Amino acid sequence: MKQRDSLLFSLPLTAAMLIIVFAVFLYWQLSKFETSYINEAKKTIAREAELAAAVISPMLAKQDVSSVVHFCRTIGHYALRLTVIDSNGTVLADSKDDPLIFDNHKERQEVKSALEGKAASAVRYSSSMNQKMIYHAMPLDCNGKRYVMRSAIPTAEVGRIIDMSRLNMFWALLLGAQIVLFLTYYILQKVRKPLINLHTSVEDIASGNLDRNIDIPEDGIMRELAIDISEMTNQLKRQLDIVTAERNERAVLFDTMNEGVLLLAEDGNLIRANNAAARLLNFDKDKPFQLNRCHIPELVEKAMETLKSGLSFEKEFCLERNKTRSFLFIKGSVLRNNNTRRLLLTITDLSNMRKLESFRTDFVANVSHEIKTPLTCITGAAEALEENISPETQTRLIAMIKKHSERLNHIVRDILSLSQIEKSRRHESDMLRIRLDIILENVVNIERERAKECGFEIKITENLPLTVSGDADLLEQALINLIENALRYSNGKTVSVSVTQENANAVLTVRDDGIGIAEEHRDRLFERFYRVDKSRSRELGGTGLGLAIVKHIALTHNGKVEVITDVGKGAEFRIILAL
Ligand code: ADP
Repeated sequence: MKQRDSLLFSLPLTAAMLIIVFAVFLYWQLSKFETSYINEAKKTIAREAELAAAVISPMLAKQDVSSVVHFCRTIGHYALRLTVIDSNGTVLADSKDDPLIFDNHKERQEVKSALEGKAASAVRYSSSMNQKMIYHAMPLDCNGKRYVMRSAIPTAEVGRIIDMSRLNMFWALLLGAQIVLFLTYYILQKVRKPLINLHTSVEDIASGNLDRNIDIPEDGIMRELAIDISEMTNQLKRQLDIVTAERNERAVLFDTMNEGVLLLAEDGNLIRANNAAARLLNFDKDKPFQLNRCHIPELVEKAMETLKSGLSFEKEFCLERNKTRSFLFIKGSVLRNNNTRRLLLTITDLSNMRKLESFRTDFVANVSHEIKTPLTCITGAAEALEENISPETQTRLIAMIKKHSERLNHIVRDILSLSQIEKSRRHESDMLRIRLDIILENVVNIERERAKECGFEIKITENLPLTVSGDADLLEQALINLIENALRYSNGKTVSVSVTQENANAVLTVRDDGIGIAEEHRDRLFERFYRVDKSRSRELGGTGLGLAIVKHIALTHNGKVEVITDVGKGAEFRIILAL
């Protein structure tokens, strides 16, 4: 505002300067007028002196000083003062005073010049006349003697006119200055106040407060400017809103991407990264990070190479962390901006794909292995049957073929039902509401006889009539698998089953009081073809798929299965389903 103020205050200053220049000019003009008036007066006085000289010269030639005195006195009545001086500088006659009172005039400038034979003029203050006078002195040569006739007129008249003009001019200038100052003050007040308001608003807006309203004056030149600035601010706000919304959208998009994106400086320091990148390389994206700390030395090497050469790369890297392996497909390319280089890394997580691939390979290998033994047995027995063998051997071989065929049948049945369960993952809305207590009772009824045969007692400890969305057949199958496992592997006496409620979940529990399962098996217990005791499982017709089926049935119902067990303390399997 200071700058604007000085601009505004320069207005009255300029006006004052103009007035001063104008006044100086007028004074100069007046002085010029005074000078030209005096010059004119000098010429007039010289002409009149010539006439007087024509009269005085004969008188001086006759040495008639009294006539000269008389003539001078007479002329004195007509405002022209005549003084006659001899060659010694002594005043002989004067229009106003007695010649005797005058001191010697020889040294007066104009007299001195006339005594040397040259007429001369001078303007000087006369102490005898008490005013400023114009003098003209001319030599008069009479009978070989030189006299000087000096004529003089007062400048009083012209002085009076000029003084009056100066006074009038002074008042006129004073009045003019007052008017100019008043007008300037008025205009300044008119412009300055809205300007200050506008300036405060604009300053506020510039500091980031775009919600600030601009005061728009009702009229005046500042109105248009205020309207324009207000419109400009609104436009800016709208643009800023759009840019902010776009930036936020981009940030959300960037952070919700499945692919990791990292931007690194030339020294490997992190500039920007999205959530996926931070998750995949295990760092905090809001803290400083160096690529060296990513635990993939090969990637660091590749990145540095790329930054040097500027050539892009694509490669799959393996990251081992906390006993887990991730497979990351990383593309690196260099971004050039002026003289700086930056490295852009995009990361695709291939871990699930690789897991699936290895899962498939393992599955095929497991299936082949499971099928191979019964098939070999069946083929061997069939070949033996072709030989000439005893009826007892024949019966034994046929029984063997039957047993292994059944085993094959079980394997195929379990594989098929597992794949069907996996395929049949349905939406909750497609499922029926089913009563868990009824399912539990059905299963206990089916299994009671078999339990008895195995020397077990099945107890229902609690059976709440809870309802869930689900498939009754599948849940029955899961419970049968768990009860049969307890009968087959636990070596216990009792199988307790229950339907209970825990918070918003229904829990189906199958608990036995048998041998339990050692800790090292627990994590893998629900994997396909995983067995704790392989030979026993095979002997008892187990396929190694029973618990995998239970797990997938629970998953189909958006639930989960867990086991609580310890060696010698029995095992408790829990299927947890949301109510
Ligand atoms: P299988 O077809 O062999 O029964 P499962 O997946 O049903 O396959 O069971 C996997 C393994 O878990 C079994 O081989 C068995 O050793 C062990 N197991 C399952 N249930 C129990 C249990 N109640 N008590 C002890 N071990 C069990």
